[in-house]
Amino acid sequence: MNSLEVRDLAYAYPDGTQALFGVDLTIGSGERVALLGPNGAGKTTLVMHLNGILTAGHGSVAVAGTTVRADTLRQVRQRVGLVFQDPDDQLFMPSVHDDVAFGPFNAGLRGEELERRVKDALDRVGMLPFAERPPHHLSFGQRRRVAVATVLAMEPEILVLDEPSSNLDPAARRELAEILRSLEVTVLMVTHDLPYALELCERSLILSDGVIAADGPTRSLLADA
Ligand code: ADP
Ligand code: ADP
Repeated sequence: MNSLEVRDLAYAYPDGTQALFGVDLTIGSGERVALLGPNGAGKTTLVMHLNGILTAGHGSVAVAGTTVRADTLRQVRQRVGLVFQDPDDQLFMPSVHDDVAFGPFNAGLRGEELERRVKDALDRVGMLPFAERPPHHLSFGQRRRVAVATVLAMEPEILVLDEPSSNLDPAARRELAEILRSLEVTVLMVTHDLPYALELCERSLILSDGVIAADGPTRSLLADA
């Protein structure tokens, strides 16, 4: 089953700005894909359709076979994990543990299953020793890793990251790359960081003026760019 299927997706904002014009896109399970393109290309608009923050004006989006619709939003939001560009938009609890527990807790998990989710997620990003710390005492790179863990704890089908390498020093950048490479989850990463795309994503998409202008191996797309 594919992680993501976008069919002929078009979208205009209420003011009439047409942001997407018939986007078609399939991402297979376990792929790591970079979404590239200039400012205003429609990247954010596309990402906001993946978990139903915006709903298709025309066309459709399906996550692991479930079409994004008003009555599937709960399911879809558990399957699509969004990691925002600023981790501080995602961390608001008194401890790292509680931030990571928040999603699964609200999904109804308790007790050992909840603790297993939190531990696994923190372990994957190397932050287990920091579980009891307040997030705001951590470095920016550590906070970004905790933000990734908050999403992994939901055991998503697809992890969508907005500019994951932004504001990281070289060591933190490398650490995050290693973490992302080690995850067995489908990844879609919006980025302007071409070396990061090249390092992490076999495949890249270039969105330009609301259409997919290129889709192929990152190496050959960047060679042509
Ligand atoms: P990107 O993420 O690639 O920079 P966006 O998806 O943010 O692109 O923007 C795509 C187009 O939609 C741009 O022309 C942008 O100006 C427009 N746009 C974005 N948000 C809104 C909005 N809330 N209302 C109207 N137009 C918008
Ligand atoms: P217990 O059954 O031990 O009283 P709960 O099942 O209520 O605890 O919560 C288990 C864990 O979930 C606790 O360690 C707590 O930190 C965390 N937790 C409780 N409420 C929330 C919440 N609203 N959001 C995130 N984590 C929570």
